[in-house]
Amino acid sequence: MQYYSTNGQSPKVSFKEATIKGQAPDKGLYFPEQIPVLSKEFIENIEQYSNEEIAYKVIQPYVADAIPEDELRRIVSETINFDIPLVKVTDDIYSLELFHGPTLAFKDVGARFMSRCLGYFVKDAKQKVIVLVATSGDTGGAVANGFYNVDGVEVVILYPSGKVSSVQEKQLTTLGNNVHALEVEGTFDDCQQMVKEAFTDDELNNKLFLTSANSINVARWLPQQFYYFFAYKQWKDKNNPPVICVPSGNFGNICAGMLGYASGLPVQHFIAACNANDIVPEFMKTEKYQPKKAVATLSNAMDVGNPSNFVRILELFHHQFGDLKKVLSSDSVSDEETKATIKSVKDKEGYLLDPHGAVGYLSLEKYLVNYPSQKGIFLETAHPVKFYDVVEPVIGEKVPVPQSVQEQIKKEKKSTKIKVDASELKAFLTELQ
Ligand SMILES: *Cc1c(COP(=O)(O)O)cnc(C)c1O
Repeated sequence: MQYYSTNGQSPKVSFKEATIKGQAPDKGLYFPEQIPVLSKEFIENIEQYSNEEIAYKVIQPYVADAIPEDELRRIVSETINFDIPLVKVTDDIYSLELFHGPTLAFKDVGARFMSRCLGYFVKDAKQKVIVLVATSGDTGGAVANGFYNVDGVEVVILYPSGKVSSVQEKQLTTLGNNVHALEVEGTFDDCQQMVKEAFTDDELNNKLFLTSANSINVARWLPQQFYYFFAYKQWKDKNNPPVICVPSGNFGNICAGMLGYASGLPVQHFIAACNANDIVPEFMKTEKYQPKKAVATLSNAMDVGNPSNFVRILELFHHQFGDLKKVLSSDSVSDEETKATIKSVKDKEGYLLDPHGAVGYLSLEKYLVNYPSQKGIFLETAHPVKFYDVVEPVIGEKVPVPQSVQEQIKKEKKSTKIKVDASELKAFLTELQ
C-alpha cells in the first residue's frame, strides 16, 4: 500500500515512511492509494470474530508488508486491551463508550497503535527516536501513555505550568521512565512555538532523530476504524444498520469511520456533531469551506477553527459534494444545549454524558426525529470525570472517580521546569541522547 499527499506535490510513500514523516513534505496529508474492500463473509459473520481478529483484518491492508504478521498482531492486541462497550441509553440511542482506556478518552487507541508502530520501525536504528509534543492537556496524556515503555523511544512533553487540570498534569508527570515532562513557565502557544523551533533547528536535527506524534499521522488516524467495527459487532439489528454520530473537532475520528464504511462496514448515515465551531456544518449547508478562529466552548477538545482532517473526507468522496451529502450530515450544538442535554439525559435515562458526548447525543436525537424508523450510535469520546468542572454543577452531584484515576492522583509528580527559551529545550534534548 502506498500513500499519496493530498497536496499532490510530494512522492508516494509506504506506511513506514508515512508514519515516520507524519505530514507530507508539501504540507499535505497522506492518504491511502486504494481503499481495501472487506469480504461480505467477514461483515456478515462479524460476531464470530474476536476484536483482535477484526482489528487485524481492518488494518493489515494499510500496513501491508511494513510490519510482519506476528508483530502487527501483537501491536493490535496491545492497542485494544480495554473494553469498548456499546451501551443502550434509550430504545433508539446507544453509546459507544471509548473512555475505558488509560487516559479515559478515545485518543488512547490511535496513540497506542502509533507508538508501537514507531517503536517497531526504529528498533534497529542506531539512535533513539525522540517524540516531541506540546500539549494543552489531553493529547499529551494519550501520547505519553501510548509511548510509555516503548523501547527505543523517548517522549518529551511540553506543557504550560499551572494551565492544565490536576488530573491531566498527573497523567503527564507520573509515568517516568522514557516519558519526560517539561513544565514550561509560559502558555500553550509558547510550548508549541518551542517545539516548532526545535523541529526547524538544523544543528539539533543533525544530531537527534526528532519526530512528532501529530494527530494527522496515518498511524494515529487509521486504527480509529477499529471501534466502528466493534460497534457493529455489538449491534443487534443487523438488517437496520445504525446511524453513527461523532463529536468532531479535527475530524480524524469521523473520517476513520467513513473509511471503514468505504471498506464495507454497514452504516445508515454519519453525523458530524460540532460545538459552536461550525465550519463543517456551514460547509454542508453552503458548500463553502470557511475556516474561522476557534472559539472556546465546554467541549473544548473540539474547539477547532480549521479541521485538518476534513480534507481526507473530501478526498474519500473524490471532492463530489453531492455524494458526500448522501452519507454525511453535520450539526452545531451550543453550550446551553450541551448543559441541558447532560442534565436531561441524566434525569430521564440515568446516563451521564461528558460535554463532547452530549453534543453527539443531541445531534443524533435531533436527526432521528426526522427518521423515526432508524436507530443510532453516538461516540462517547471521553469519561465525564475528565470534565467534572462542567458536569458536576449541571447535575448537582459528584462524578465518581474511576479506580485508575484515583491511583494516578496519588502518585508523585516529576517534571523539569524550564523557561520559554529554545536553548533550555535544546540542552535538555541533547542530554537525552
Ligand atoms: C479529540 C477529541 C474529540 C475530537 O476528535 P477529532 O478526531 O479531532 O474530530 C472529541 N472528543 C474528545 C473528548 C476529544 O479528546
